[in-house]
Amino acid sequence: MVIAIRCPAPKCRKYMLVEAADRGKTVTCLICKVAIPIPAK
Ligand SMILES: [Zn+2]
Repeated sequence: MVIAIRCPAPKCRKYMLVEAADRGKTVTCLICKVAIPIPAK
């Protein structure tokens, strides 16, 4: 299962799909390279 998270960067705001198993981890936005924490739920 995947969940959608949104990039917090004001100039980006892209949605990205991440694996639900990665909750609690941090991913890097593919567009602007900012670190995005994946919410626990
Ligand atoms: Zn971004």
